[in-house]
Amino acid sequence: MIIIDGSLGEGGGQILRTSLALSIWTQQPVRIEHIRAKRAKPGLLRQHLTAVQAAVAISNGQAKGAELGSRALTFSPGKVQGGDCRFAIGTAGSCTLVLQTILFPLLLAKRESTVTITGGTHNPSAPPIDFLQRAFLPLLTRMGVPVEVTLKKHGFFPGGGGEIVAHILPCPTLQGLELCERGERRRSFAEAYIASLPSRIAERELKTVGELMSWKKEQLFMRGVSGQNGIGNALGITLEHEYVAEVFTGFGERGVSAEAVAKTACDEALDYIASNAAVGPHLADQLLLPLALAGSGRFTMPAPTQHFTTNAAVIEKFLPVRLRVKQERHNLYTAVVVS
Ligand code: ATP
Repeated sequence: MIIIDGSLGEGGGQILRTSLALSIWTQQPVRIEHIRAKRAKPGLLRQHLTAVQAAVAISNGQAKGAELGSRALTFSPGKVQGGDCRFAIGTAGSCTLVLQTILFPLLLAKRESTVTITGGTHNPSAPPIDFLQRAFLPLLTRMGVPVEVTLKKHGFFPGGGGEIVAHILPCPTLQGLELCERGERRRSFAEAYIASLPSRIAERELKTVGELMSWKKEQLFMRGVSGQNGIGNALGITLEHEYVAEVFTGFGERGVSAEAVAKTACDEALDYIASNAAVGPHLADQLLLPLALAGSGRFTMPAPTQHFTTNAAVIEKFLPVRLRVKQERHNLYTAVVVS
């Protein structure tokens, strides 16, 4: 049994999700201790518990310690089934993070899978669905991974109530990925999502983006989301390049001005533009898992984050790969995955 210390490095939920995915992929039981030890509310929250339940369901597995608040979990995977399944987080916990726990394991199934997940689709500290669809999934497509994800309903923090549906075909072998250049900029735009809040919030966010990014009105879009989706606001900046797209997001919060929400997303986008790296910091930590499953690949990124180094350390516990980082110049690094 592999033992994982959940207080390692970043000490958050990613350690749990990567461990579950790789436990199923490698068919090795795992025990995760000190789950989310470095978070204000440690242990399994709804999103993490749903990820555990999803891992159990798709792999005919068994889990001990799968309860809210639990700080230790023992998980034994069985064979991956595939087929139709539905998981409800019950809060605004992130649908995309639950999906990332089971997406790669479901490639091992003998038949196709349709996975419906309800919860948050645009919530802080998690990949919004736009990031998944525009930045992450196209790279998986290049790696030969047959997956499509549809947004059925937006879900914002704290109300939740969103829904995504993923369609995944069997594909037990992934191709490596070389992504060292982003290529020419093809398109750049910002979208302010607004649900049951005054439209002037979105207008102020888009005005701030226009000023900070020096963008024209034609690059700024207000996306009204119908009232049935609860209250919410997010501001996404999409940068499409020849070889990769990136999405940077600010999340509306009570007590945080529209200008500050927009500035958060703009600052991340401007840092990315200045770095010349192919992928930004979030994409970098999330790409490690598919590259490690492929057994080879490389990409350029800004300075490695703690999510990146922690995820790399967890992956190396399960797979016979080495994840190395080489500094090229100021704020430009190459991540290399070798078997
Ligand atoms: P906690 O740490 O509270 O358990 P968590 O379960 O969300 O929360 P983390 O370990 O913090 O887990 O991992 C969050 C993941 O979401 C990381 O892969 C991170 O890169 C990604 N992420 C966070 N914010 C964004 C964003 N704005 N866009 C894309 N990805 C994001």
